[in-house]
Amino acid sequence: MVEMLKGIAASDGVAVAKAYLLVQPDLSFNKISVDDTEAEAKRLDDALAKSTEELQQIREKAAQSLGEAEAQVFDAHLMVLSDPEMIGQIKQNVKDNKVNAESALKEVTDMYIGMFEAMDDNAYMQERAADIRDVAKRVLAHLLGVTLPNPSMINEEVVVVAHDLTPSDTAQLDRKFVKAFVTDIGGRTSHSAIMARSLEIPAIVGTKEITAKVKAGDILAVNGIIGDVIIDPTEEQKAEFQKAGADFAAQKAEWEKLKEADTVTADGKHFELAANIGTPKDLEGVHNNGAEAIGLYRTEFLYMDSPDFPTEEDQFEAYKAVLEGMGDKPVVVRTMDIGGDKELPYLTLPHEMNPFLGYRALRISLSELGDDMFRTQLRALLRASAFGNLRIMFPMVATLKEFRAAKKMYDEERQKLINEGVTVSDTIQVGIMIEIPAAAVLADKFAKEVDFFSIGTNDLIQYTMAADRMNERVSYLYQPYNPSILRLIKNVIDSAHAEGKWAGMCGEMAGDQTAVPILMGMGLDEFSMSATSVLKTRSLMKRLSTEDMKVLADKALNDCDTMEEVIELVEEAVK
Ligand code: PEP
Ligand code: MG
Repeated sequence: MVEMLKGIAASDGVAVAKAYLLVQPDLSFNKISVDDTEAEAKRLDDALAKSTEELQQIREKAAQSLGEAEAQVFDAHLMVLSDPEMIGQIKQNVKDNKVNAESALKEVTDMYIGMFEAMDDNAYMQERAADIRDVAKRVLAHLLGVTLPNPSMINEEVVVVAHDLTPSDTAQLDRKFVKAFVTDIGGRTSHSAIMARSLEIPAIVGTKEITAKVKAGDILAVNGIIGDVIIDPTEEQKAEFQKAGADFAAQKAEWEKLKEADTVTADGKHFELAANIGTPKDLEGVHNNGAEAIGLYRTEFLYMDSPDFPTEEDQFEAYKAVLEGMGDKPVVVRTMDIGGDKELPYLTLPHEMNPFLGYRALRISLSELGDDMFRTQLRALLRASAFGNLRIMFPMVATLKEFRAAKKMYDEERQKLINEGVTVSDTIQVGIMIEIPAAAVLADKFAKEVDFFSIGTNDLIQYTMAADRMNERVSYLYQPYNPSILRLIKNVIDSAHAEGKWAGMCGEMAGDQTAVPILMGMGLDEFSMSATSVLKTRSLMKRLSTEDMKVLADKALNDCDTMEEVIELVEEAVK
Protein backbone atom coordinates (compact mmCIF):
# COMPACT_ATOMS: atom_id res chain seq x y z
CA MET A 1 0.00 0.00 0.00
CA VAL A 2 1.31 3.41 -0.93
CA GLU A 3 2.33 5.38 2.13
CA MET A 4 4.13 8.67 2.46
CA LEU A 5 6.38 9.63 5.38
CA LYS A 6 8.02 12.94 6.11
CA GLY A 7 11.38 13.30 7.74
CA ILE A 8 14.22 15.78 8.02
CA ALA A 9 15.93 16.41 4.67
CA ALA A 10 19.52 15.51 5.51
CA SER A 11 21.34 15.07 2.23
CA ASP A 12 20.26 16.26 -1.23
CA GLY A 13 19.39 13.85 -3.99
CA VAL A 14 16.69 11.45 -5.10
CA ALA A 15 16.57 7.65 -5.32
CA VAL A 16 14.11 4.88 -6.05
CA ALA A 17 15.22 1.41 -4.96
CA LYS A 18 14.26 -1.47 -2.74
CA ALA A 19 14.64 -1.31 1.01
CA TYR A 20 17.48 -2.97 2.89
CA LEU A 21 16.62 -3.16 6.58
CA LEU A 22 19.58 -2.46 8.81
CA VAL A 23 17.71 -3.42 11.95
CA GLN A 24 18.97 -5.66 14.73
CA PRO A 25 16.87 -8.87 14.81
CA ASP A 26 15.38 -10.32 17.98
CA LEU A 27 18.01 -12.58 19.54
CA SER A 28 16.06 -13.60 22.63
CA PHE A 29 15.81 -17.30 23.57
CA ASN A 30 14.82 -19.54 26.48
CA LYS A 31 17.13 -21.70 28.49
CA ILE A 32 15.90 -25.24 27.97
CA SER A 33 17.01 -28.69 29.10
CA VAL A 34 18.19 -31.13 26.42
CA ASP A 35 18.70 -34.89 26.55
CA ASP A 36 20.73 -35.29 23.40
CA THR A 37 23.78 -33.18 24.27
CA GLU A 38 25.68 -34.61 21.29
CA ALA A 39 23.11 -33.15 18.89
CA GLU A 40 23.31 -29.85 20.74
CA ALA A 41 27.11 -29.78 20.37
CA LYS A 42 26.63 -30.47 16.66
CA ARG A 43 24.24 -27.49 16.37
CA LEU A 44 26.93 -25.38 17.98
CA ASP A 45 29.59 -26.66 15.56
CA ASP A 46 27.33 -25.83 12.61
CA ALA A 47 26.71 -22.32 13.90
CA LEU A 48 30.44 -21.84 14.46
CA ALA A 49 31.22 -23.02 10.93
CA LYS A 50 28.60 -20.72 9.38
CA SER A 51 29.89 -17.77 11.44
CA THR A 52 33.46 -18.49 10.34
CA GLU A 53 32.48 -18.62 6.69
CA GLU A 54 30.49 -15.40 7.01
CA LEU A 55 33.29 -13.58 8.80
CA GLN A 56 35.83 -14.66 6.20
CA GLN A 57 33.63 -13.15 3.49
CA ILE A 58 33.19 -9.93 5.45
CA ARG A 59 36.93 -9.74 6.05
CA GLU A 60 37.67 -10.16 2.37
CA LYS A 61 35.17 -7.47 1.43
CA ALA A 62 36.55 -5.09 4.09
CA ALA A 63 40.11 -5.63 2.86
CA GLN A 64 39.03 -4.73 -0.68
CA SER A 65 36.95 -1.69 0.14
CA LEU A 66 38.57 -0.28 3.30
CA GLY A 67 42.08 -1.69 3.27
CA GLU A 68 44.05 -4.35 5.10
CA ALA A 69 44.36 -2.40 8.39
CA GLU A 70 40.58 -2.09 8.79
CA ALA A 71 40.08 -5.74 7.84
CA GLN A 72 42.27 -6.88 10.71
CA VAL A 73 39.47 -6.35 13.24
CA PHE A 74 37.86 -9.42 11.71
CA ASP A 75 40.99 -11.50 12.28
CA ALA A 76 40.46 -10.94 15.98
CA HIS A 77 36.86 -12.14 15.58
CA LEU A 78 37.99 -15.23 13.69
CA MET A 79 40.46 -15.99 16.45
CA VAL A 80 37.68 -15.88 19.03
CA LEU A 81 35.68 -18.34 16.92
CA SER A 82 38.51 -20.82 16.89
CA ASP A 83 39.60 -20.39 20.51
CA PRO A 84 39.73 -24.06 21.68
CA GLU A 85 39.50 -23.15 25.35
CA MET A 86 36.35 -21.06 25.08
CA ILE A 87 34.62 -23.39 22.59
CA GLY A 88 35.57 -26.36 24.78
CA GLN A 89 33.99 -24.68 27.79
CA ILE A 90 30.74 -24.02 25.92
CA LYS A 91 30.50 -27.66 24.88
CA GLN A 92 31.34 -28.82 28.39
CA ASN A 93 28.60 -26.54 29.70
CA VAL A 94 26.07 -28.16 27.31
CA LYS A 95 27.17 -31.64 28.42
CA ASP A 96 27.40 -31.03 32.17
CA ASN A 97 24.24 -29.01 32.56
CA LYS A 98 22.22 -30.61 29.75
CA VAL A 99 21.21 -27.20 28.39
CA ASN A 100 20.69 -25.84 24.90
CA ALA A 101 23.66 -24.40 23.01
CA GLU A 102 22.23 -20.85 23.12
CA SER A 103 22.28 -20.67 26.89
CA ALA A 104 25.68 -22.40 27.21
CA LEU A 105 27.13 -19.95 24.66
CA LYS A 106 25.74 -16.97 26.52
CA GLU A 107 26.88 -18.15 29.94
CA VAL A 108 30.46 -18.81 28.89
CA THR A 109 30.90 -15.74 26.68
CA ASP A 110 29.35 -13.50 29.35
CA MET A 111 31.88 -14.87 31.80
CA TYR A 112 34.78 -14.00 29.46
CA ILE A 113 33.35 -10.57 28.65
CA GLY A 114 32.96 -9.80 32.36
CA MET A 115 36.51 -10.91 33.03
CA PHE A 116 38.02 -8.72 30.30
CA GLU A 117 35.85 -5.74 31.16
CA ALA A 118 36.93 -5.90 34.79
CA MET A 119 40.44 -4.99 33.64
CA ASP A 120 39.06 -1.56 32.99
CA ASP A 121 42.22 0.44 32.51
CA ASN A 122 43.49 -1.76 29.73
CA ALA A 123 42.31 -0.82 26.25
CA TYR A 124 43.50 -4.13 24.77
CA MET A 125 41.33 -6.13 27.19
CA GLN A 126 38.34 -3.88 26.47
CA GLU A 127 38.75 -4.67 22.80
CA ARG A 128 38.82 -8.41 23.51
CA ALA A 129 35.55 -8.03 25.42
CA ALA A 130 34.01 -6.20 22.45
CA ASP A 131 35.27 -8.88 20.03
CA ILE A 132 33.74 -11.70 22.09
CA ARG A 133 30.43 -9.83 22.37
CA ASP A 134 30.30 -9.41 18.60
CA VAL A 135 31.19 -12.99 17.84
CA ALA A 136 28.75 -14.38 20.40
CA LYS A 137 25.98 -12.36 18.74
CA ARG A 138 26.83 -13.79 15.34
CA VAL A 139 26.93 -17.41 16.57
CA LEU A 140 23.68 -16.90 18.49
CA ALA A 141 22.00 -15.56 15.35
CA HIS A 142 23.02 -18.73 13.47
CA LEU A 143 21.77 -20.93 16.31
CA LEU A 144 18.42 -19.13 16.18
CA GLY A 145 18.33 -19.17 12.39
CA VAL A 146 18.07 -15.38 12.03
CA THR A 147 20.15 -13.17 9.76
CA LEU A 148 22.22 -10.30 11.09
CA PRO A 149 22.22 -7.28 8.81
CA ASN A 150 25.56 -6.64 7.23
CA PRO A 151 25.84 -3.41 5.26
CA SER A 152 29.32 -4.20 3.96
CA MET A 153 27.93 -7.18 2.01
CA ILE A 154 25.26 -5.24 0.10
CA ASN A 155 25.77 -5.95 -3.60
CA GLU A 156 22.69 -4.51 -5.30
CA GLU A 157 21.07 -1.07 -5.40
CA VAL A 158 19.17 -0.39 -2.18
CA VAL A 159 17.83 2.25 0.16
CA VAL A 160 19.14 1.47 3.64
CA VAL A 161 16.47 1.74 6.33
CA ALA A 162 17.60 1.91 9.96
CA HIS A 163 16.47 3.10 13.35
CA ASP A 164 19.69 5.09 13.53
CA LEU A 165 23.06 4.96 11.81
CA THR A 166 26.25 5.55 13.73
CA PRO A 167 29.06 7.39 11.97
CA SER A 168 30.92 4.07 11.61
CA ASP A 169 27.84 2.36 10.06
CA THR A 170 27.67 5.25 7.61
CA ALA A 171 31.35 4.97 6.74
CA GLN A 172 30.77 1.34 5.71
CA LEU A 173 28.06 2.18 3.19
CA ASP A 174 29.16 1.60 -0.36
CA ARG A 175 27.98 4.47 -2.56
CA LYS A 176 27.83 2.19 -5.56
CA PHE A 177 24.95 0.20 -4.06
CA VAL A 178 23.49 2.37 -1.32
CA LYS A 179 21.40 4.89 -3.22
CA ALA A 180 19.93 6.56 -0.13
CA PHE A 181 19.25 6.00 3.55
CA VAL A 182 16.29 6.75 5.77
CA THR A 183 16.26 6.56 9.58
CA ASP A 184 13.77 6.80 12.44
CA ILE A 185 15.84 9.16 14.55
CA GLY A 186 18.54 11.82 14.13
CA GLY A 187 18.78 15.45 13.11
CA ARG A 188 20.33 17.45 10.27
CA THR A 189 23.54 17.85 12.20
CA SER A 190 23.92 14.25 13.42
CA HIS A 191 27.26 13.02 12.14
CA SER A 192 25.64 10.36 9.95
CA ALA A 193 23.73 13.16 8.18
CA ILE A 194 26.90 15.21 7.77
CA MET A 195 28.70 12.18 6.35
CA ALA A 196 25.86 11.45 3.94
CA ARG A 197 26.36 14.92 2.49
CA SER A 198 30.05 14.37 1.93
CA LEU A 199 29.45 10.89 0.49
CA GLU A 200 26.69 12.43 -1.69
CA ILE A 201 24.20 9.79 -0.55
CA PRO A 202 20.64 11.20 -0.43
CA ALA A 203 19.34 10.88 3.13
CA ILE A 204 16.29 11.51 5.27
CA VAL A 205 16.56 11.26 9.05
CA GLY A 206 14.09 11.54 11.91
CA THR A 207 11.05 9.96 10.18
CA LYS A 208 10.21 8.43 13.61
CA GLU A 209 8.62 5.28 12.13
CA ILE A 210 10.28 4.15 8.92
CA THR A 211 11.50 0.85 10.42
CA ALA A 212 8.01 0.07 11.69
CA LYS A 213 6.44 0.68 8.28
CA VAL A 214 8.89 -0.85 5.84
CA LYS A 215 9.62 -4.52 5.12
CA ALA A 216 12.80 -5.74 3.45
CA GLY A 217 12.39 -5.54 -0.30
CA ASP A 218 9.64 -2.87 -0.35
CA ILE A 219 10.26 -0.26 -3.01
CA LEU A 220 11.05 3.18 -1.62
CA ALA A 221 11.11 6.54 -3.37
CA VAL A 222 13.31 8.98 -1.47
CA ASN A 223 13.65 12.71 -1.98
CA GLY A 224 16.45 13.94 0.32
CA ILE A 225 16.03 17.53 -0.87
CA ILE A 226 12.63 17.96 0.76
CA GLY A 227 12.55 15.00 3.17
CA ASP A 228 9.77 12.92 1.55
CA VAL A 229 9.77 9.14 1.31
CA ILE A 230 7.08 7.02 -0.32
CA ILE A 231 6.68 3.30 0.44
CA ASP A 232 5.52 1.28 -2.59
CA PRO A 233 5.12 4.29 -4.88
CA THR A 234 2.85 4.20 -7.92
CA GLU A 235 4.46 4.38 -11.36
CA GLU A 236 3.40 8.02 -11.50
CA GLN A 237 5.04 8.82 -8.17
CA LYS A 238 8.21 7.04 -9.22
CA ALA A 239 8.32 9.15 -12.36
CA GLU A 240 7.72 12.31 -10.32
CA PHE A 241 10.63 11.48 -8.01
CA GLN A 242 12.86 10.59 -10.92
CA LYS A 243 12.05 13.94 -12.50
CA ALA A 244 13.01 15.71 -9.27
CA GLY A 245 16.31 13.78 -9.38
CA ALA A 246 16.95 14.84 -12.97
CA ASP A 247 16.16 18.51 -12.13
CA PHE A 248 18.59 18.34 -9.25
CA ALA A 249 21.30 16.84 -11.48
CA ALA A 250 20.74 19.66 -14.02
CA GLN A 251 21.02 22.27 -11.25
CA LYS A 252 24.24 20.66 -10.07
CA ALA A 253 25.65 20.79 -13.58
CA GLU A 254 24.96 24.56 -13.62
CA TRP A 255 26.76 25.04 -10.29
CA GLU A 256 29.70 22.97 -11.54
CA LYS A 257 30.49 25.68 -14.04
CA LEU A 258 31.66 27.78 -11.07
CA LYS A 259 34.29 25.27 -10.00
CA GLU A 260 37.25 27.43 -11.04
CA ALA A 261 35.53 30.78 -10.37
CA ASP A 262 36.47 33.18 -7.58
CA THR A 263 34.05 33.62 -4.71
CA VAL A 264 33.40 37.29 -5.26
CA THR A 265 30.15 39.07 -4.48
CA ALA A 266 28.25 41.34 -6.88
CA ASP A 267 30.08 44.30 -5.30
CA GLY A 268 33.50 42.70 -5.50
CA LYS A 269 34.14 41.38 -1.99
CA HIS A 270 35.84 38.01 -1.59
CA PHE A 271 34.77 35.43 0.99
CA GLU A 272 36.74 32.26 1.64
CA LEU A 273 34.72 29.17 0.78
CA ALA A 274 36.14 26.11 2.47
CA ALA A 275 35.15 22.47 2.86
CA ASN A 276 34.83 20.16 5.87
CA ILE A 277 36.49 16.76 5.65
CA GLY A 278 36.70 13.62 7.78
CA THR A 279 39.51 11.71 6.06
CA PRO A 280 42.23 12.31 3.45
CA LYS A 281 39.96 10.43 0.99
CA ASP A 282 37.58 13.42 1.10
CA LEU A 283 40.19 15.58 -0.68
CA GLU A 284 38.76 14.42 -3.99
CA GLY A 285 35.41 16.01 -3.14
CA VAL A 286 37.17 19.19 -1.99
CA HIS A 287 38.88 19.58 -5.37
CA ASN A 288 35.86 18.47 -7.41
CA ASN A 289 33.78 21.14 -5.73
CA GLY A 290 36.32 23.93 -6.08
CA ALA A 291 36.77 24.64 -2.34
CA GLU A 292 39.43 27.26 -1.55
CA ALA A 293 40.53 25.76 1.74
CA ILE A 294 39.74 23.12 4.32
CA GLY A 295 37.99 24.84 7.20
CA LEU A 296 37.48 21.75 9.33
CA TYR A 297 39.28 18.43 9.27
CA ARG A 298 37.43 16.23 11.80
CA THR A 299 40.39 14.11 12.90
CA GLU A 300 38.36 11.84 15.16
CA PHE A 301 37.41 9.78 12.10
CA LEU A 302 41.05 8.76 11.88
CA TYR A 303 40.68 7.32 15.35
CA MET A 304 37.30 5.78 14.58
CA ASP A 305 38.52 4.06 11.41
CA SER A 306 41.45 2.47 13.14
CA PRO A 307 41.44 -0.78 15.17
CA ASP A 308 43.53 0.90 17.87
CA PHE A 309 44.87 4.39 18.66
CA PRO A 310 46.50 5.65 15.46
CA THR A 311 50.25 6.01 15.98
CA GLU A 312 52.08 9.33 15.58
CA GLU A 313 53.37 8.03 12.26
CA ASP A 314 49.89 7.06 10.96
CA GLN A 315 48.60 10.49 11.91
CA PHE A 316 51.59 12.29 10.45
CA GLU A 317 51.01 10.53 7.11
CA ALA A 318 47.30 11.44 7.08
CA TYR A 319 47.89 15.12 7.95
CA LYS A 320 50.78 15.40 5.52
CA ALA A 321 48.64 13.90 2.73
CA VAL A 322 45.93 16.49 3.33
CA LEU A 323 48.37 19.41 3.61
CA GLU A 324 50.25 18.39 0.48
CA GLY A 325 46.99 17.76 -1.34
CA MET A 326 45.96 21.35 -0.65
CA GLY A 327 49.27 22.97 -1.68
CA ASP A 328 49.52 26.41 -0.10
CA LYS A 329 45.80 26.63 0.67
CA PRO A 330 44.88 26.74 4.36
CA VAL A 331 43.94 23.53 6.18
CA VAL A 332 42.28 23.88 9.58
CA VAL A 333 42.77 20.67 11.53
CA ARG A 334 40.69 20.18 14.62
CA THR A 335 42.20 18.09 17.39
CA MET A 336 40.19 15.00 18.17
CA ASP A 337 36.56 15.40 19.20
CA ILE A 338 35.73 11.96 20.56
CA GLY A 339 32.56 11.52 22.60
CA GLY A 340 28.97 12.58 21.94
CA ASP A 341 27.92 10.35 19.01
CA LYS A 342 31.54 9.54 18.10
CA GLU A 343 32.81 6.52 20.00
CA LEU A 344 35.99 4.51 19.79
CA PRO A 345 35.62 0.74 20.14
CA TYR A 346 38.99 0.56 21.89
CA LEU A 347 38.44 3.41 24.34
CA THR A 348 35.79 2.57 26.87
CA LEU A 349 34.37 5.76 28.28
CA PRO A 350 32.10 5.70 31.31
CA HIS A 351 28.40 5.53 30.43
CA GLU A 352 26.93 9.02 30.72
CA MET A 353 23.40 10.36 30.94
CA ASN A 354 24.22 13.28 28.63
CA PRO A 355 27.21 12.39 26.45
CA PHE A 356 26.99 15.67 24.48
CA LEU A 357 27.36 17.56 27.77
CA GLY A 358 29.89 15.15 29.13
CA TYR A 359 33.40 13.95 28.85
CA ARG A 360 34.27 14.67 25.20
CA ALA A 361 36.70 16.44 22.89
CA LEU A 362 39.18 18.79 24.59
CA ARG A 363 37.89 17.65 27.98
CA ILE A 364 39.36 14.21 27.25
CA SER A 365 42.52 15.69 25.71
CA LEU A 366 43.21 17.73 28.83
CA SER A 367 42.57 14.89 31.29
CA GLU A 368 45.05 12.28 32.46
CA LEU A 369 43.48 9.66 30.17
CA GLY A 370 43.92 11.86 27.10
CA ASP A 371 47.31 13.41 27.82
CA ASP A 372 49.31 10.93 25.74
CA MET A 373 46.75 10.83 22.97
CA PHE A 374 46.68 14.60 22.70
CA ARG A 375 50.44 15.08 22.76
CA THR A 376 50.86 12.37 20.11
CA GLN A 377 48.36 14.17 17.90
CA LEU A 378 50.02 17.55 18.44
CA ARG A 379 53.42 16.12 17.53
CA ALA A 380 52.06 14.52 14.37
CA LEU A 381 50.44 17.82 13.39
CA LEU A 382 53.54 19.89 14.13
CA ARG A 383 55.71 17.54 12.07
CA ALA A 384 53.23 17.67 9.19
CA SER A 385 53.15 21.48 9.33
CA ALA A 386 56.30 21.61 7.19
CA PHE A 387 54.27 20.31 4.24
CA GLY A 388 51.58 22.95 3.84
CA ASN A 389 49.56 25.76 5.36
CA LEU A 390 48.43 24.34 8.70
CA ARG A 391 46.02 25.86 11.20
CA ILE A 392 45.11 23.99 14.37
CA MET A 393 41.99 24.40 16.44
CA PHE A 394 40.68 22.94 19.66
CA PRO A 395 37.06 21.73 19.93
CA MET A 396 34.61 22.32 22.78
CA VAL A 397 36.47 25.09 24.56
CA ALA A 398 34.36 26.50 27.40
CA THR A 399 36.93 28.50 29.37
CA LEU A 400 40.08 30.46 28.77
CA LYS A 401 41.82 28.21 31.25
CA GLU A 402 41.14 25.23 28.96
CA PHE A 403 42.49 27.07 25.95
CA ARG A 404 45.61 28.10 27.86
CA ALA A 405 46.21 24.53 29.05
CA ALA A 406 45.88 23.17 25.51
CA LYS A 407 48.06 25.93 24.09
CA LYS A 408 50.71 25.23 26.73
CA MET A 409 50.84 21.55 25.70
CA TYR A 410 51.07 22.64 22.07
CA ASP A 411 53.96 25.02 22.90
CA GLU A 412 55.77 22.32 24.88
CA GLU A 413 55.51 19.72 22.09
CA ARG A 414 56.56 22.31 19.56
CA GLN A 415 59.66 23.23 21.57
CA LYS A 416 60.56 19.57 22.08
CA LEU A 417 60.42 18.91 18.34
CA ILE A 418 62.50 21.98 17.57
CA ASN A 419 65.07 20.80 20.14
CA GLU A 420 65.12 17.43 18.38
CA GLY A 421 65.97 19.25 15.14
CA VAL A 422 62.60 18.59 13.45
CA THR A 423 61.38 21.19 10.96
CA VAL A 424 58.20 22.87 12.18
CA SER A 425 56.43 25.68 10.34
CA ASP A 426 56.60 29.03 12.13
CA THR A 427 53.35 30.31 10.67
CA ILE A 428 50.89 27.85 12.23
CA GLN A 429 47.80 29.63 13.52
CA VAL A 430 46.20 28.22 16.66
CA GLY A 431 42.51 28.89 17.15
CA ILE A 432 39.41 27.52 18.80
CA MET A 433 35.97 26.39 17.85
CA ILE A 434 33.24 28.53 19.28
CA GLU A 435 30.53 25.99 20.00
CA ILE A 436 29.80 26.55 23.67
CA PRO A 437 27.73 29.65 24.52
CA ALA A 438 30.14 30.55 27.37
CA ALA A 439 32.94 31.03 24.83
CA ALA A 440 30.66 32.92 22.42
CA VAL A 441 29.69 35.37 25.15
CA LEU A 442 33.30 35.83 26.27
CA ALA A 443 34.65 36.04 22.71
CA ASP A 444 36.23 39.48 23.32
CA LYS A 445 38.56 37.92 25.92
CA PHE A 446 39.34 34.84 23.85
CA ALA A 447 40.09 37.02 20.81
CA LYS A 448 43.10 38.51 22.58
CA GLU A 449 44.75 35.08 22.92
CA VAL A 450 43.73 32.97 19.92
CA ASP A 451 44.64 33.41 16.25
CA PHE A 452 41.13 32.73 14.94
CA PHE A 453 37.64 31.51 15.72
CA SER A 454 35.66 28.88 13.86
CA ILE A 455 32.02 28.87 14.91
CA GLY A 456 30.63 25.36 15.36
CA THR A 457 26.95 26.04 15.02
CA ASN A 458 25.91 22.38 15.19
CA ASP A 459 26.82 22.37 18.85
CA LEU A 460 26.42 26.09 19.51
CA ILE A 461 22.75 25.88 18.51
CA GLN A 462 22.08 22.72 20.50
CA TYR A 463 23.64 24.22 23.63
CA THR A 464 22.04 27.65 23.25
CA MET A 465 18.58 26.25 22.57
CA ALA A 466 19.08 23.34 25.02
CA ALA A 467 17.94 20.97 22.26
CA ASP A 468 19.78 17.71 21.53
CA ARG A 469 21.00 17.78 17.92
CA MET A 470 20.33 14.03 17.60
CA ASN A 471 16.73 14.14 18.77
CA GLU A 472 14.14 14.58 16.02
CA ARG A 473 11.45 15.42 18.61
CA VAL A 474 13.17 18.71 19.39
CA SER A 475 14.55 19.32 15.92
CA TYR A 476 12.18 22.31 15.56
CA LEU A 477 14.51 24.04 18.02
CA TYR A 478 17.49 23.71 15.71
CA GLN A 479 17.03 27.34 14.68
CA PRO A 480 20.10 28.80 12.98
CA TYR A 481 18.19 31.98 12.14
CA ASN A 482 16.81 32.60 15.59
CA PRO A 483 17.87 36.17 16.50
CA SER A 484 19.45 34.81 19.72
CA ILE A 485 21.84 32.67 17.70
CA LEU A 486 22.50 35.48 15.24
CA ARG A 487 23.41 37.84 18.08
CA LEU A 488 25.87 35.34 19.55
CA ILE A 489 27.48 34.89 16.14
CA LYS A 490 27.68 38.64 15.61
CA ASN A 491 29.42 39.02 18.95
CA VAL A 492 31.99 36.41 17.95
CA ILE A 493 32.71 38.01 14.57
CA ASP A 494 32.97 41.54 15.99
CA SER A 495 35.20 40.38 18.86
CA ALA A 496 37.59 38.69 16.43
CA HIS A 497 37.73 41.74 14.18
CA ALA A 498 38.34 44.10 17.11
CA GLU A 499 41.59 42.21 17.76
CA GLY A 500 42.54 41.94 14.07
CA LYS A 501 41.71 38.21 13.98
CA TRP A 502 39.50 36.31 11.55
CA ALA A 503 36.26 34.47 12.24
CA GLY A 504 35.02 31.50 10.25
CA MET A 505 32.20 29.05 10.62
CA CYS A 506 32.40 25.28 10.16
CA GLY A 507 28.98 24.23 11.45
CA GLU A 508 26.34 23.24 8.90
CA MET A 509 24.87 26.74 9.07
CA ALA A 510 27.81 28.01 6.98
CA GLY A 511 26.34 26.29 3.92
CA ASP A 512 22.71 27.02 4.72
CA GLN A 513 21.33 29.10 1.87
CA THR A 514 19.05 31.14 4.11
CA ALA A 515 21.81 31.87 6.62
CA VAL A 516 24.57 32.72 4.13
CA PRO A 517 23.21 36.18 3.15
CA ILE A 518 22.98 37.21 6.83
CA LEU A 519 26.44 35.84 7.62
CA MET A 520 27.86 37.79 4.67
CA GLY A 521 26.23 40.91 6.06
CA MET A 522 27.71 40.25 9.50
CA GLY A 523 31.19 40.07 7.99
CA LEU A 524 32.01 36.39 8.54
CA ASP A 525 35.40 35.83 6.87
CA GLU A 526 35.41 32.12 6.10
CA PHE A 527 32.53 29.71 5.34
CA SER A 528 33.33 26.03 5.72
CA MET A 529 30.77 23.38 4.79
CA SER A 530 30.17 19.95 3.27
CA ALA A 531 32.11 20.06 0.00
CA THR A 532 28.88 19.40 -1.88
CA SER A 533 27.45 22.75 -0.71
CA VAL A 534 30.41 24.86 -1.88
CA LEU A 535 29.33 25.53 -5.46
CA LYS A 536 25.73 26.41 -4.71
CA THR A 537 26.99 28.82 -2.03
CA ARG A 538 29.42 30.39 -4.49
CA SER A 539 26.57 30.79 -6.95
CA LEU A 540 24.46 32.50 -4.28
CA MET A 541 27.25 34.83 -3.11
CA LYS A 542 27.97 35.98 -6.62
CA ARG A 543 24.42 37.28 -6.91
CA LEU A 544 24.48 39.30 -3.67
CA SER A 545 26.04 42.60 -2.64
CA THR A 546 27.65 42.90 0.80
CA GLU A 547 26.22 46.38 1.30
CA ASP A 548 22.67 45.05 0.87
CA MET A 549 23.45 42.08 3.10
CA LYS A 550 24.68 44.42 5.85
CA VAL A 551 21.30 46.11 5.89
CA LEU A 552 19.63 42.69 5.89
CA ALA A 553 21.77 41.43 8.79
CA ASP A 554 21.07 44.58 10.76
CA LYS A 555 17.34 44.09 10.39
CA ALA A 556 17.58 40.40 11.30
CA LEU A 557 19.58 41.24 14.42
CA ASN A 558 17.58 44.20 15.61
CA ASP A 559 14.08 44.14 14.15
CA CYS A 560 13.16 40.46 14.05
CA ASP A 561 11.67 38.67 17.05
CA THR A 562 11.52 35.14 15.68
CA MET A 563 13.22 32.77 13.31
CA GLU A 564 10.16 32.87 11.04
CA GLU A 565 10.49 36.64 10.66
CA VAL A 566 14.15 36.26 9.71
CA ILE A 567 13.31 33.64 7.08
CA GLU A 568 10.68 35.94 5.59
CA LEU A 569 13.13 38.84 5.55
CA VAL A 570 15.79 36.81 3.73
CA GLU A 571 13.31 35.37 1.24
CA GLU A 572 12.17 38.88 0.40
CA ALA A 573 15.74 40.18 -0.01
CA VAL A 574 17.20 37.25 -1.96
CA LYS A 575 14.31 36.48 -4.31
C1 PEP B 1 29.92 21.94 15.21
O1 PEP B 1 29.65 21.62 16.37
O2 PEP B 1 29.33 22.84 14.59
C2 PEP B 1 31.01 21.26 14.48
C3 PEP B 1 31.42 21.69 13.32
O3 PEP B 1 31.56 20.16 15.05
P1 PEP B 1 30.87 18.73 15.07
O4 PEP B 1 29.70 18.75 14.14
O5 PEP B 1 31.89 17.74 14.67
O6 PEP B 1 30.44 18.60 16.51
MG1 MG C 1 30.94 20.37 17.52
